[in-house]
Amino acid sequence: MNFTFLGTGAGMPAKERNVTSLALGFPEYDGDLWLFDCGEGTQRQILYTPVKLTKLTVIFITHLHGDHLFGLPGILGSRSFHGAESTLQLVGPKGLKEYVETSLRLSGTHLYYPIAINEIETEGKVYENAHFVVTASELDHGIKSYGYRITEKDQKGELLVDKLKEIGIPPGPIYKLIKEQDQVQLPDGTMLETAPFIGEKRKGRIVTILGDTRPCSAAELLARDADMLVHEATFRGDSERLAHDYHHSTSLQAAETARQALAKTLILAHLSSRYQKKEQTALLNEAKAVFPHTYLAHDLWDYQLKLQPRS
Ligand SMILES: [Zn+2]
Repeated sequence: MNFTFLGTGAGMPAKERNVTSLALGFPEYDGDLWLFDCGEGTQRQILYTPVKLTKLTVIFITHLHGDHLFGLPGILGSRSFHGAESTLQLVGPKGLKEYVETSLRLSGTHLYYPIAINEIETEGKVYENAHFVVTASELDHGIKSYGYRITEKDQKGELLVDKLKEIGIPPGPIYKLIKEQDQVQLPDGTMLETAPFIGEKRKGRIVTILGDTRPCSAAELLARDADMLVHEATFRGDSERLAHDYHHSTSLQAAETARQALAKTLILAHLSSRYQKKEQTALLNEAKAVFPHTYLAHDLWDYQLKLQPRS
C-alpha cells in the first residue's frame, strides 16, 4: 500500500506545499489507485510522481472546502483524455454530485467513462471491494467533514502443498477446492478436513484518513488500532485557541488522538503556510513528544505500508 502525498498544505497553494490530496496505491492489488481529496493543482503534482490516472478507481472527498476540492473537475477530464473507460466511483458529502455535474456541464466537459457518485447520507460503510471495506464518520469542522477508515479484509493462509503431497494428494484441480472449502471429498470417497492444510492467515491492515477537524471522539474511533493515521495539523501546539476557532487541530492534538486510539503510526499533513522550515520541525517535535512514531508529510513524499506478517 503506497501513500503518495500530492499536497500537504492548508488553505491555498504555497511554493513548498500544494493544497490537499493524497493518492493511495495498491501494487499488491493490480495497481488499483484511490485518491483522497483533490485540491487545485493536484493533476500537475501527479506529473511528478509515478501515479497513473488510468489506474484511478475511487475518489474520496472528505469535505467540500475548496482546498480539498477545486482540482476535481480537471482530474475527471484528464482521466478521460488518458483514455480511461472504466467507471470511476466518487464518495463524499452531500453537494458533491451538484458540484461535479455543474462544473462538467458549464465547462462543456464530456467524459468517455461513467462516474458513480455516492453522497454519504448515513455514517458507516460507504465503499467495499474484494479486498477492503471503507467506513466514514462525521468529524467536527463547521461544515460536513468526513473521516475514512479503510479496513483490509483478512487474507486466507497459503496452501501447504508439501503436507498434502505427504498424505498422497498430488497437485491438481482439487487443490483449489481444498483452499476454498472446509471439507473436500477425495477421489476414494473419504472426506478431508482442509484446515490443517492451510497456513496462517494474514490480518488485514487498517488505515485512517481524516478530513479537517477539531479533536473529536469520531476521529479517535475511526483511528482505533489503525496501522496508519493521516491527520491534519494546521497549527502548532501553542495555537489551540486559533485551531478551535477555525475548526482545525494542532499537531499536539493530532498526536493525542493517535495516542488515545492506540494507532501505530501517525502522519501529519495539512500545515498552515505560516510555518517556515524551522517551525515545521518544531511542530513535528511537539507531536513526537506525545506520540513518538510520527512523521511530517511533505509534497511528493512516498510512504509504503507493508503487508502484516502472517500471524
Ligand atoms: Zn476545511
